[in-house]
This record gives sequence, structure tokens and C-alpha cells, in this order.
Amino acid sequence: MLLNKNNTKICMSCQQFNCTEYEYNEAKRELTFSFHSKQRPDDVFCRYCGSDSIEVHDNNTTILKDLPIWIGIKQFIAVWYHRYKCRDCNRVFSEDIGFKDPDARVTLRATNAIRELLSLGLSISSVSQYTGIHWDTIRKLHTHVMEDALETRVKLLKEQGYKPTYLAVDEFAIHKGHTYATCVMDLETGEVLWVGKGRATEDFRKFFLEYDMDYLNNVRAFAMDMNASYNKLVEEYMPEVDIVYDRYHMQAQFGKEVLGVVRLNEARKHKEAAQDIKEIRSEETDPEIRRHLKAEYREEQKMYSTLKNSRWSILTNSKNLSDSKKTALDTILEEHNDLAVVYAMKEEMCRLFELRDPEEARNGWMAWFEAAKESGIEALVHFAELKEKRLEGLIAHATYPISTGKLEGLNNKIKVAKRVGYGYRNDDYFFILVRYISMPHNFMLIPRKT
Ligand SMILES: [Zn+2]
Repeated sequence: MLLNKNNTKICMSCQQFNCTEYEYNEAKRELTFSFHSKQRPDDVFCRYCGSDSIEVHDNNTTILKDLPIWIGIKQFIAVWYHRYKCRDCNRVFSEDIGFKDPDARVTLRATNAIRELLSLGLSISSVSQYTGIHWDTIRKLHTHVMEDALETRVKLLKEQGYKPTYLAVDEFAIHKGHTYATCVMDLETGEVLWVGKGRATEDFRKFFLEYDMDYLNNVRAFAMDMNASYNKLVEEYMPEVDIVYDRYHMQAQFGKEVLGVVRLNEARKHKEAAQDIKEIRSEETDPEIRRHLKAEYREEQKMYSTLKNSRWSILTNSKNLSDSKKTALDTILEEHNDLAVVYAMKEEMCRLFELRDPEEARNGWMAWFEAAKESGIEALVHFAELKEKRLEGLIAHATYPISTGKLEGLNNKIKVAKRVGYGYRNDDYFFILVRYISMPHNFMLIPRKT
């Protein structure tokens, strides 16, 4: 116990408090040090008017959580401090406790240790277990640390005259996919500017109402998934900004709703053909014809499973396929006209997204939609009719080849954040965390202003 007490005395010797006693509660494994103020009113000035005519109004006690000297033993500091009254302005104020965190009933040395532990990547619950300090208190402290860093970062960018040029918006799942959040990113710095709960249009409207729009008056293009209604609000609040539809969302949707549907349709036809052959064969008596039908049946079954298993080859860019895979794919396409058509449309779509000349892109996309609608392939016609309304945002990609890809990349960081804040029950905390982890690394350890 002696070492414990000595340490504490050295720590606190510069301030007006004296540690006079401690109490150890064996059952609760809690250690409490008592600190009494030795400050005299003569040494105090009024916080409000600066007068030196001060008297003690009354005394008060507060219990601060402290960093444990022994792991596993919770540590507290009971502080007896004065409340003063100014004889000139009559106002009452509390004595300063220099070693207390201004925002929580925790000692500053505990706050600093918690910051260090969190910056090492320890989860909130680990830090909570180690320090014996409640999860929520640590979360609050962490929130202050992150807010300070974010504020400093924004201030610095503003001082440098920086303004974002390209933005992206997308949704991401929180709470195991039951709820969603909408997220806006500055594509040049990769920093998340805003996160809000929900993914409906009205949820996204909050961005335009809450965010400092002056900071965004240099924005030229906004990347987004064409399926959401983000575009309506961008048109409403940022009419000068070009909307760019994200190629990856569109390609993924084409893969699922056109390539996937057509491929499975063709596969189904083979299955049905195989079934028919089987029935005919069961009534056939001629052994020669029976043998022939069996071979045909096998051929249909083989085609069925080839198509069922060709998903990956069809979705992959043909340049990335091995020679043997490519030959196999060519055989499939030769024998299935619809599939060959939608496959060629996929390849052409990828090419259109590579164009950098808006005029060429316009002509290319218009020809693409024309061909799609004339194909007579139901899934493709339907897709084209839906997407043609978004023509301008597809052409804009030639001028501003931006995407929401960087936001997808954030998902891994969000997974880390979920681990740090494991068990988080507070969305605001989680959203600050998402913004915080998107900052450049050297900004994450800005020391706390005290
Ligand atoms: Zn006063």
C-alpha cells in the first residue's frame, strides 16, 4: 500500500489538494483515495468579474474514476472541494480541480491513458475491463477525442483554402443489415464528410440541411448508385453539380438482372428438354433409338450443368479469363444466342465506361440503349428502359470518371470500427467513429486540448 500512496502523492503535489487517507473495500475490490482542498479564498479570483473578494460558500464532494494502479482493482479519487462566493457580484462558482477531465467524472490521467489504449486499437470493452471504468464513460471520452480531431482537421483544411470537388454518396448496413446509414465522402481526400441514419430520400435530405454548404460550393460532380433517389436531392440543392452514376452498381445489377436471368433461362430450357427426352425414351422400344435418346439426354444434362456453373466466367471481364475458360465460354455463347447477345452488351457497357469523350459517350450509350430495346430479350429490354432515363448521368462519367468505389473500400474500416465499438448502442457515436477512421492517420492522435 505504501508504494501506492507515495506514487499518488508525487502525482498530486503540484496542486492544492492533499491526499490524507485511503480506503480499500475488499469485497468490491475498490480503492478510494481521499483528497482535501487546502486552498484559501485569499488566493482565489472571481471567475466572472475577477474580484479578489471571495469567501467560501460551502463544501462539496465528487468522486472521480481513476486509472488503477493494480489491474483488477477499481480506483477512485474522492475530492473535497470548495464552492466560493464572490462578495462583489454575488455569484457562486466551484473550485478548479486541475486533475479532473473537464467533460467527465474521470481523472485526466485516466483520460489520457484511455486515449492511448484506444489509439492502439483496443476495443472499448477491453479498455473498460482493464481500467474498471464504465463502457459508456469510455465511449464518451472517445467521442470527445474524435470530435477534437475532426474539428482540427476541418479547421486546417479551411485554413488551407481547400474545398471538395468530387463527392460520392452510398448506403451501408449497420446492425447486421437490419438498418442502414447513408454516407457522403470527399473522393479526393477519401474522408467521410457526413453520415446519417437511414437510406430513404428524406434521410439523405438531412445532409443538405445539416452540412455547411458553403464548404461544398466548389463541388463539380457527385457519384451515386442510380437506383437510389439521391439524384433528386442533389438536383434540388446543388443544381450546378453533375450527377455521375456509379459504374460498379450498374454493372453488378446488369450481371444479376440480365446476364443471370438469361443464363438461368437457357439452363432451364436444357433441363426441360432433358425431361422430355426421358419421357419419350421410356415409351420407346427400339434399342437403337433408345441408345440415341440416351446420348441426347446426357448432352442436355451436360449443357444444363455447364450453364449453371458458368456464372463466374460470364461475369468476369473476358481479358481476365484463362485460355481454357475462354474457349469453354465461347462454346456456350455459340450455342445460346440470347446469352451471346447480353454478353456482348456487357462487354460494350464496360467499354462505354472507359470513354473520356462526352460526345463519343453520348453516341455510344444511345446506340447501346437502342440495340438493347430491339433485342427482344425481355430482361435486357426491361433493364434498358429503366436505365435510359439516367442517360445524362452515364454520359457525365466520360467527363468525371468517378465512382462510389472508394466508399465501398471504407467498408473494411467500418468492420474494424464495429470491433472497436463492439456492442455500441449509440448511432451518433458510431457515425463519428466512421468519420474519424476515414481521416488521414496522423490526425487520429491529436493531443487533447486541456
Ligand atoms: Zn464576481
